[in-house]
Amino acid sequence: MLRSPLLLAILLTACVRTPEEAAEIDPQIASEVASIKAIDNHAHPVRPTASGEKPDTEYDALPVDSLEAQSDYVRSRPGSPALLAAHRALFQGDKAAAAKTYGQEYALKVLDQLNIETMLANRVALGPGLPSPRFLWVPFADALMYPLATDSLVQNPDQKAFFALEAKLLTRYYAESGVATKPVTLDQYLDQVVRATLERHKKDGAVAEKFEMAYLRPLAIGNPAKSAAEKVYATGAGDYRALQDYIFRFIAVECGRLGMAVHFHTGAGGGGYFNVGGSNPMLLEPLFNDPSLRKTHFVMLHGGWPFAHEETALLTKPNAYLDFSAQTFMNYPRDVAQNLRAWLEYVPEKVLFATDAYAYAPPAAGWEEVGYVANASGREALGMALTAMLRDHEITRERAGELARMVLRDNARKLYGLK
Ligand SMILES: [Zn+2]
Repeated sequence: MLRSPLLLAILLTACVRTPEEAAEIDPQIASEVASIKAIDNHAHPVRPTASGEKPDTEYDALPVDSLEAQSDYVRSRPGSPALLAAHRALFQGDKAAAAKTYGQEYALKVLDQLNIETMLANRVALGPGLPSPRFLWVPFADALMYPLATDSLVQNPDQKAFFALEAKLLTRYYAESGVATKPVTLDQYLDQVVRATLERHKKDGAVAEKFEMAYLRPLAIGNPAKSAAEKVYATGAGDYRALQDYIFRFIAVECGRLGMAVHFHTGAGGGGYFNVGGSNPMLLEPLFNDPSLRKTHFVMLHGGWPFAHEETALLTKPNAYLDFSAQTFMNYPRDVAQNLRAWLEYVPEKVLFATDAYAYAPPAAGWEEVGYVANASGREALGMALTAMLRDHEITRERAGELARMVLRDNARKLYGLK
């Protein structure tokens, strides 16, 4: 067990870099960064299930195992040193024994190993073994944007699978809302299915709604007239995008009213058909600039890589935040550190630590290993960025400690109103 912050600091850095390389991080900063109990803004923890029980499938609305093969980035490949090191470090390399020993406590024990106090769990549902408040729920809202058949929207085999999954989730939302068939008018649909679902999510503890929109369509969201959206809803004819955009805006306003943030996947994503250009966070600027949406907090997940630079500029919007999940296992700490430094020099109050812990290829790359790598690399990148700022006399040592606490915990605490 990692009870000593110093030991944890050494392990967190040693698993991805040699001691000589790690020394470029100021030792005091390294130990402070390692010792902070973090809030993880975005992850997909898998629910522990007993043997014989159906395995958990609710960790994503659009799981990556339905994708065609792509050219994998180096760090995610089987046998990648970072993943192997993570596997050895977790539960002394024996996850199966730990899962048996800890049972329903298993996911909590994983959080303890990563020194993560609170993990925002982006899942269809939370369920047993992922107790609140250590896990806080972030459900999915994309399905609500597609009340009509989606065959005409499918452009590739990956999307065919994705839209089928969204249809399934919408069916579930109908059932949970007590609505049997598609309501006659758009207003009725918005009230009886959309608002009802958002209010239910809120009541069940959700702190945000997540959009995986970039997997389905570009992030360019227009501002259509209601009459245009109503016509498409009623007849199925016309511009389906106008209906989607109108519903999105309704959801965003409702999230603001209910005190839930809106999470967007931004930047590169999984699958060889993923539209990287359509995931550019700059496409969200009209939303951030819309006075009617200023009460809604938007969080750009994954730091928008490869558009991290653009995302820096968007941080000046009062309702825009970002996290640096996924970058931390796709990319190496030096690259992430450069992005982090730019954000911390600009608007540090809205930069959030996150892992995107995800079961890409279990058991070797389960959510635990991916979370371990992202957590270690994320903290290392933060240490590198703060050290560079300190050595360039941009910040004092005290401010470095303060920035570490803000990024790892306090910024998220403020955004979600956590204790
Ligand atoms: Zn994710």
